[in-house]
Amino acid sequence: MTLMEGIDLSSCCQSCGACCGYSQNWPRFSIESDEELALIPETLVNERQSGMRCEGDRCSALQGEIGKATACGIYAVRPEVCRTCMPGDAECAMARRKFGLPTIETA
Ligand code: SF4
Ligand code: SF4
Repeated sequence: MTLMEGIDLSSCCQSCGACCGYSQNWPRFSIESDEELALIPETLVNERQSGMRCEGDRCSALQGEIGKATACGIYAVRPEVCRTCMPGDAECAMARRKFGLPTIETA
């Protein structure tokens, strides 16, 4: 759970998911070990083994409807880049804008 300024920001993500549908170039693998990557189901990994498989710009592990209710289907083993996008940061704002969602104010 992410807590910032007393707001439960993880609940923002559960009704959002925009960063998981922003670009097929976003959910890329980076510093994960081979052991960590092996935990991600093969069907959800792209052909080049360089990141998550996407349908258009949407990560194939994303469940639900963006802007309504979403969840990561591989939350416990998701790539590092997915752990660094924080509600209210610049990437979050870009992604939310794409889907017509308001920017999250954290201060
Ligand atoms: S775009 Fe922001 S609020 Fe939406 S899921 Fe990503 S980090 Fe959470
Ligand atoms: S792996 Fe999970 S957190 Fe990462 S982009 Fe896909 S759905 Fe989102």
